[in-house]
Amino acid sequence: METNQCNTPVTLAPASPSRVDLASNPAGTIVNIGGTKIGGTDIVVIAGPCAVESWKQLFETAMAVKSSGAKILRGGAFKPRSSPYSFQGLGEEGLKLLAMIQKESGLPLVTEVMDTRQVELVASYADMLQIGSRNMQNFPLLKEAGMCKKPILLKRGMMSTIEEFLLAAEYILNQGNNQVILCERGIRTFETATRNTLDLSAVPMLKRLTHLPVIVDPSHGTGLRWMVPSMSKAALAVGADGLIIEVHYKPEQALCDGNQSLSLDEFDRLMPDLQKIARAIGREIYL
Ligand code: PEP
Ligand code: MN
Repeated sequence: METNQCNTPVTLAPASPSRVDLASNPAGTIVNIGGTKIGGTDIVVIAGPCAVESWKQLFETAMAVKSSGAKILRGGAFKPRSSPYSFQGLGEEGLKLLAMIQKESGLPLVTEVMDTRQVELVASYADMLQIGSRNMQNFPLLKEAGMCKKPILLKRGMMSTIEEFLLAAEYILNQGNNQVILCERGIRTFETATRNTLDLSAVPMLKRLTHLPVIVDPSHGTGLRWMVPSMSKAALAVGADGLIIEVHYKPEQALCDGNQSLSLDEFDRLMPDLQKIARAIGREIYL
C-alpha cells in the first residue's frame, strides 16, 4: 500500500474498484481514438466547438485547430443544457456534419452521448463517445457504453469524488470496454469567481490510482476564456495526458459556451507554449 507524506493510506475505500486500479495494468492503458493514441508519452490536444452549429462553423474551426496541432475534433450534437430553452444541439444532423468534417479534415472525433437509446447511433458516427459530467453516474448509460466497441471519454461529475469517478469508470470496464479516458473538468465548490473549480490535484491522484489516461478540460473547468491558457499549461505540468479545449471561429457568436471558447488565433498561440511545457517534462506535442 502506498503512503503519502502524512502517512495516510492512499488507497480506495473497502468496496474499491479493481479493473481500474493501476496495479491491474502498471504500464498504463493507451487508448486508440481512430488512430490517435492517448496515454503514452505524447500529449494529445482535442479541440473544437462546444456545440456543432453549422457546416461553416465546424469546418472553419476544425481546419484551423488541425493546422494549429489539435489531433482530435470535439463538438456536441446532443447538448446537456441547464435550461430547456437553450440551444439543445442539432442532434443527428450535427452527427452528419461531424462525419462530413471528419472526412474533410482527417481528424478523429469525439461527441457526447446522453441517453442509452442513442449509444448505437452516436457510436456509428463518432471515434470516441463522451459521457458528460451530468451523466457520470448514469449507470445504465455507463453499462451501455461499456458494451460498445468505441473508446469512452468519461468526464468527472461536478459533485463527484475521485473514488466515485473511478467507480463510474469501473462500470464501463466491467462490460469489457477498457478504452476509457478520464477527464477532470472542474467541480462545484463555494467559489463563484470561476464557473467550476478545476481540481488539478485530481490529476496526480488519478495517475497514482489508475492505469487509465487522464486529460483536463480547462474550458469548463474555469468558464473563462482568458484563464484557459494558464490552466492548460498547469494541467500539463501536473501530468495530464491531454487536454480538451473549446475553440470557436467566432466565440462572441457561439450558441453555447462562447465565454470560455478560445478564438482560432488564441488557440494557435497557445499550442507552441504547450509544446514547451511538454518538452520540459520529457513529453512531446506534435504540432
Ligand atoms: C461539454 O464538453 O461541452 C460539456 C457539456 O462538458 P461537461 O459535461 O464537462 O459539462
Ligand atoms: Mn461546453
